[in-house]
Amino acid sequence: MTLNGTPIRTRRAAPAIAILTAVAVAMAGGGPTLSPARAQDSATRGMPIIRDAEIEQLLRDYAQPILRAAGLAKQNVRVVVLSDRSFNAFVMDGRHIFINAGALFDAKTANEVIGVFAHETGHLAGGHLQRLREQLASAQTAGIVALLAGVGAAVAASRAGGAAGDVGMAAILAPQAAIMRSVLAYVRTQEDQADHAGVKFLNATGQSPKGMVELFKRLSNEVLFNSRYIDPYMQTHPMPADRVAALETLAKASPYWDRKDPPELQLRHDMMRAKLSGFLERPDTVARRYPSSDHSLPARYARAISTYRHSDLRQALLQIDGLIQAQPNNPYFYELKGQALLEGGHPAEAVAPLRQAAQLSHNNPLIEIMLAQSLNATNNPKFAEEAVGLLRTAIAREPEASDAYAQLAVAYGRKGDLANADLASAQAAFARGDLKTARQLATRAKTRLPIGSPAWVRADDIVNVKPKTNANVQ
Ligand SMILES: [Zn+2]
Repeated sequence: MTLNGTPIRTRRAAPAIAILTAVAVAMAGGGPTLSPARAQDSATRGMPIIRDAEIEQLLRDYAQPILRAAGLAKQNVRVVVLSDRSFNAFVMDGRHIFINAGALFDAKTANEVIGVFAHETGHLAGGHLQRLREQLASAQTAGIVALLAGVGAAVAASRAGGAAGDVGMAAILAPQAAIMRSVLAYVRTQEDQADHAGVKFLNATGQSPKGMVELFKRLSNEVLFNSRYIDPYMQTHPMPADRVAALETLAKASPYWDRKDPPELQLRHDMMRAKLSGFLERPDTVARRYPSSDHSLPARYARAISTYRHSDLRQALLQIDGLIQAQPNNPYFYELKGQALLEGGHPAEAVAPLRQAAQLSHNNPLIEIMLAQSLNATNNPKFAEEAVGLLRTAIAREPEASDAYAQLAVAYGRKGDLANADLASAQAAFARGDLKTARQLATRAKTRLPIGSPAWVRADDIVNVKPKTNANVQ
């Protein structure tokens, strides 16, 4: 598991995302700042994103049937996990469903996360963001956007703790309360529609809407019992009691109301939660949640991760080997072993388990990038060619992975291919959003590459990228 492509080291404060800031983003047209050749994904740039092969596979398995039922199978909608402990899930454009690690952790069953995806897919299928944009555009928006962005900041400030945020919010809200109410009423209509669509997609896939209802109930109770607590999910999905009641009536009419998730899916869900705990929580919290008396696979997984991250590598390796013994075909146990060895300064020993993980995962690109990183870190030039091959195929499937380009530059450099090393460094800078450095490196790469070759053309593309401004933000 990595954060923005690098090992998770410290917990970063994640940005507060509220409906109001989401609306501001919607007004900015999704906010791309670069318009590269094809692949770079500026929608997610700058966000604290968790990348993990195992979790992403599970979330794809949750989302795909729902997206198919919604007629969105061909849109390549990606689920993106944000490193944020609060409960939140939202859509900001037509191509991503964002979900916080906190929401995955709080969801006790697979069915609850599937319910959240069904609701968010309801927003996507209804084209809600586009309509919200139109609605706002019809209301002399420039001022509103500024207002909403201001309120978003005030909400963030109040979440960060302190009365100052409340005061700021009141001051901003007072003169514009009427506009605010009409926007929120509109958002509320969209929420009802998304609930409806969500239940329809769950019915179409033969899954229970119970998780969705239970989760929403839990969330609305938290708000009732603690009025000072502002949950970002409540900001993006206003949830008055009548909405929950309407959803419950609709959901209970489902023929699948009592249907349970398959046990193997629930186990994968519990493994995901254990993994998030092991990587993101303090060792004493992990130990409390998963005491040594708990011999379940998820508990052993959480403890092994926590041990490798916070105490003893050799002890952790013993625990991971125990997991491998229990499930010898689980690619993610070998991946964990490789990651622990690599981060513990033993790249040569990491190579074998990572090769195994790559093979068992059918060449998952994130695992192949880590394998290439280990090969590079051995400083053995005989591995350079293999690293180049792994990284090029991984990048073809993960074109946004800036760390993969950086590793590719290292591998080319070790081969003595300085032209391609420059190009890869330029691509790394570009994927990070550092356009100035990207241009400089691409310009130098052009002088070293045969004019008109595919690599030269790629370098030329980067040299000629124009920064795109958000023209519709006034
Ligand atoms: Zn919603």
